[in-house]
Amino acid sequence: MKILVCIKQVPDTTDIKWTEHNTIQREGVESVINPFDVYAIEEALKLKKSLGNVEITVLTMGPLQAKEMLKKAISVGCDNGVLLTDKKFAGADTYATGKTIASAIQNKLPDYDLIICGQFAVDGDTAQTGPSIASQLNIPQVTYVRELSKCDGKCIYAKREIEEGFETVKVELPALICVLKGFEEPTRPTINGIIKAQNSDITVYTIEDTGLTPEEAGLKGSPTYVSKAFRPVNTRGECEFCINCDTLAEKIKEFGGICNE
Ligand code: FAD
Repeated sequence: MKILVCIKQVPDTTDIKWTEHNTIQREGVESVINPFDVYAIEEALKLKKSLGNVEITVLTMGPLQAKEMLKKAISVGCDNGVLLTDKKFAGADTYATGKTIASAIQNKLPDYDLIICGQFAVDGDTAQTGPSIASQLNIPQVTYVRELSKCDGKCIYAKREIEEGFETVKVELPALICVLKGFEEPTRPTINGIIKAQNSDITVYTIEDTGLTPEEAGLKGSPTYVSKAFRPVNTRGECEFCINCDTLAEKIKEFGGICNE
């Protein structure tokens, strides 16, 4: 069984800064594997442990430095790393990111059974990339997944969080799964894993390998743009209790909400 895990490099800080183009300032900031993607890797490792014959490839679209993050994933038990990197990918929105990753998979890694993504990236936080990849590959997707089980190579069961609790769905492979953060301690690198990671070659693909034109990737291929980025005003401590419905209705009106009295 072949599993692709999509992982994203995110800034290791809560003090996010923006560039003049309203994109996240990444230069000079330490980066880590997106915390949700750590659990995407964990789900893949669990399947490898239970099924045996599983090959895990970690894939990212990002700058050249993202090679180090891919090597970290290899040090905990993943088998291969693939980096999609090209200046023409810069400025991609979620649509262009999904399209680039899906095109690279179609062209270079078509022989997969399962794709695992995190549910959210803690910096962009749209939760759109996984579903975008699935829809562009035309494969089923399951989101908000807590746990994967009972995989027979043709189908897999996914326990997903819903408003009322949990539901388990059976999905045919190939499929894409978006996972939530788990509660268990993530796997730590072993000495052998670190040595393997140091000696492993990360496969690098550029725009030519995806089959996309420069107009279809990066900023040019992005139908959305960030018009403004700002830090919300902290209103903590300014909470007011409404003692009856009339004062509540007044407050709703005061803040511009619709109130049918
Ligand atoms: P989510 O959709 O929340 O991520 C969910 C999951 O998808 C992740 O857990 C991971 O499994 C997978 N995933 C997400 N991104 C990747 C990735 N790159 N590789 C592999 N897997 C991934 N960001 C920049 O860094 N530089 C820019 O110049 C830039 N320009 C932008 C310009 C515009 C106009 C817009 C709208 C956005 C731009 N962004 C830029 C943000 C970028 O689009 C998003 O970071 C990216 O599309 C992923 O979306 P997200 O962070 O919301 O991830």
